[in-house]
Amino acid sequence: MTEKQRALEIIGQARPNLEALSDAIWDHPEVGYHESFAADALCAFLEENGFQVERNLAGIPTAFSGSYGSGAPVIGLLGEFDALPGMSQKAGCFEKCAAADGGPGHGCGHNLLGVGSLAAALGVKAYLEAGHTGTVKFFGCPAEEGGSGKGFMARAGVFQGLDAAFSWHPGDLNSVSTESTMANYQICYRFHGVSSHAALSPELGRSALDALELMNVGVQFLREHVPGDTRIHYAITDTGGSAPGTVQSHAEAVYLLRAAQLPQVKALYERVNKIAQGAALMTETTVETEFIKACSNMVLNTELMKVMQRNLEQIPCDFFDEADADFARQVAASFTYKDPYFEDVAAQIEDPELREKILQDKDAPIHTVTMPLLRESQGFVSSDVGDVSWNCPVAQIGTATMPAGTPMHSWQAVAVGKSPLAHKGMLYASKVIAASAIDALEDPEILRRAKAEFVRRTGGKAYDSPIPAEVKPRIP
Ligand SMILES: [Zn+2]
Ligand SMILES: [Zn+2]
Repeated sequence: MTEKQRALEIIGQARPNLEALSDAIWDHPEVGYHESFAADALCAFLEENGFQVERNLAGIPTAFSGSYGSGAPVIGLLGEFDALPGMSQKAGCFEKCAAADGGPGHGCGHNLLGVGSLAAALGVKAYLEAGHTGTVKFFGCPAEEGGSGKGFMARAGVFQGLDAAFSWHPGDLNSVSTESTMANYQICYRFHGVSSHAALSPELGRSALDALELMNVGVQFLREHVPGDTRIHYAITDTGGSAPGTVQSHAEAVYLLRAAQLPQVKALYERVNKIAQGAALMTETTVETEFIKACSNMVLNTELMKVMQRNLEQIPCDFFDEADADFARQVAASFTYKDPYFEDVAAQIEDPELREKILQDKDAPIHTVTMPLLRESQGFVSSDVGDVSWNCPVAQIGTATMPAGTPMHSWQAVAVGKSPLAHKGMLYASKVIAASAIDALEDPEILRRAKAEFVRRTGGKAYDSPIPAEVKPRIP
């Protein structure tokens, strides 16, 4: 048995504990920067397994790392564990049914994400223990959903000194991620006016809600005059109250602005600011802006993608059984549409024969095929992994932890998070990540080429955080 096989076997042996850990995090869903249960559980696991744990990274109580080994190269493995607000759902239930009304839930599979990367660290540690030089560092990264935890960690220099980093995301497909993500800014616009009796003395009132509505209308007109790949989203987070007979003296919206690159987001931000100021001027109110967070676009790295692809193809995905397929079919019975995603992805495969072969998996209850390495493309989502990717070469995979066609951030995604299907897909991701990290430790040429590509793609510039120095993460 090779040292790499032995490392993967160590992950397999830890399986009951890893599954229990992932389930425990699923059972205690915590939203961004509130993840004390998950952080404690993951840190305890790291300590029990001989990792040196450092907590409170970047001054964030739920950001931490666990290191093993010494010296270069240093390989980072990224883990997340935050849940989504309002997504509570009972496990294994085939209809929408909250476990706790209005509570959070793991709709993005981050209970699996954190533990999967942690398991990979366990495998890499086993390899290093066999007498190899190098360091493996697991990063516990809070608040991926809307909090840019990694962005604040990156601003504090947490990811400096890494030679490479690997991560993954739960999903319904085994593939290496070849999509870049969008850069974004998230800003809160808070209007202040004057309250007054809306019937007796309307002339004395200055409505903050009017200002907010005018701002939103202004932004709708702006949409016609921005680049096509720009995304502008907003949520009204304060309507000013529930009494129509009172002029609303306060109102607030949170805007999320996305574009392919940071300079485009910055330009968009300046235009939205002008609209907010215009709305305030029209209504004789004032507007206050609070910069919440930002994240950088993802810098891809072909060299590391190829390493992950090789391992994804070499490690067989042959562990799903008829019970998993039955479970997947029962969940899929609630889908109101035919999965558009798989065929979209398959359509990108250039070789017609390979495309045909992959398409045979189209109607499978669980996708077990391995997608070939697709051409690079620009995705529309954002991820704070982007900020890590401006610090060192990064690559990521997705593995099937959900029935084919499961939408992310859905009750179905929460419901399957503790199933054998989810556990198996998580362990598969761990093994592919560990094998890729071991390849990078074993062959210095991989890291040399990955680094050269990183320098070429980033222009050799030092990382510049998109989050202004005075902005603090929204820690409770
Ligand atoms: Zn998500
Ligand atoms: Zn996610």
